Amino acid sequence: MIDITEARSYVLARCPAAAPIHVPCRQATGLVLAAAVVAAEDVPPFANSAVDGYAVVAASVASPPVDLPVVGEVAAGAHTDRVLQPGEAIRIMTGAPVPAGADAIVMVEDTERLDGGQRVRVRQSVAVGVAVRRAGDDVRVGAALYPSGTSVTPAVAGVLASVNAATVSVVPPARVAVLSTGDELVDDGSPLLPGQIRESNRTMLLGAVREAGCEAVDLGIVRDDEAELERVLRSAAETCDAVVTSGGVSMGDYDVVKAVLSRIADMRWMQIAIKPAKPFAFGLLATADGSRAVPVFGLPGNPVSSLVSFELLARPALRQMMGHPVIDRPLVAAIADDGLARRADGKTHYVRVFASFAADGRVHVRSVGAQGSHQLAATSQANAIAVLPDGEGVAAGADVPTLLLSLGR
Ligand code: AMP
Ligand code: MG
Repeated sequence: MIDITEARSYVLARCPAAAPIHVPCRQATGLVLAAAVVAAEDVPPFANSAVDGYAVVAASVASPPVDLPVVGEVAAGAHTDRVLQPGEAIRIMTGAPVPAGADAIVMVEDTERLDGGQRVRVRQSVAVGVAVRRAGDDVRVGAALYPSGTSVTPAVAGVLASVNAATVSVVPPARVAVLSTGDELVDDGSPLLPGQIRESNRTMLLGAVREAGCEAVDLGIVRDDEAELERVLRSAAETCDAVVTSGGVSMGDYDVVKAVLSRIADMRWMQIAIKPAKPFAFGLLATADGSRAVPVFGLPGNPVSSLVSFELLARPALRQMMGHPVIDRPLVAAIADDGLARRADGKTHYVRVFASFAADGRVHVRSVGAQGSHQLAATSQANAIAVLPDGEGVAAGADVPTLLLSLGR
């Protein structure tokens, strides 16, 4: 058996970030910038009003109430050439350019229309600059906005649009093929014949792949047939950036996946000192023209093992391929409310737990119950994984390192 850190280093060393591409900023959310972005424009591009109201010279309304003639009007998207003089007001809408000469905006709530809008009564004084959003208040032209390696959130994409960064250089999303192997698997809803089970790993892994930010490609169930498996794997390598298989990597397995991958790819068959998910395979499958070596993740068939294996080994690698600065789930010291017992067996145990924030500001965890590698229903209740080093586990109330998959659900 090898250590999980050794397995992980082996995988990560063979999954470099993909070459950058250019995409419209509207398609960049969820991806990672491959080049720094410098602001090409000021935001806002001109001084504009933060409110609906009246542009004035602040000194003119120092002793309210003051009645001023309304000498013009400016809406968002319009502008006025009229230079405002002391003792005058110009009606102005939110986002409209502040007229030359004005140095503050009185909000409409502090005014009263007189003479059908010919004049306005200002009831409040304003300081110079009030409700004026200055040019460059948000972003200054030439500012170093985002370094390479920035994750594009919806807000980041919005800022890119605001500075007219129409296209940006990003690491592309990985296209990841997912397939299941096994003669026992059924996914067409038909009644189960003796020995058959419903296929479930592929459905789960397609979602996990998408949730990791990748494009998932469903390659279905491949029967335990060498020629068919080889054909599917080779074609996946041509069209995808990575392949995730489930099943056929454990010790006493009927050896189709092993036989085929050992022959056509540069594979390492691992027994990792973890529970669940001890068997795991990883390797590189070259494309026909030899131009690319596509990572293949051979996950175990037991559903919980498949999921944990994906979490610990495939997900970080796929995130690295997509340039993500953070490839791992957050690891926090949580409190094991009921304790988490185990026996020493030379392995690190990854116990599926439900985590929640408590009034003490700490994350608390409780086992979701059944921990068998075939018991996906219990694991589906988990939003975190407690990491128990070899030994006797942790006592009730003790700290346990915990990987947070999602909190707040
Ligand atoms: P294997 O790794 O192929 O030996 O499979 C280990 C266990 O996981 C067996 O009980 C399989 O029937 C089960 N299994 C394998 N693949 C899947 C799958 N795609 N969906 C559900 N169970 C599976
Ligand atoms: Mg199998």
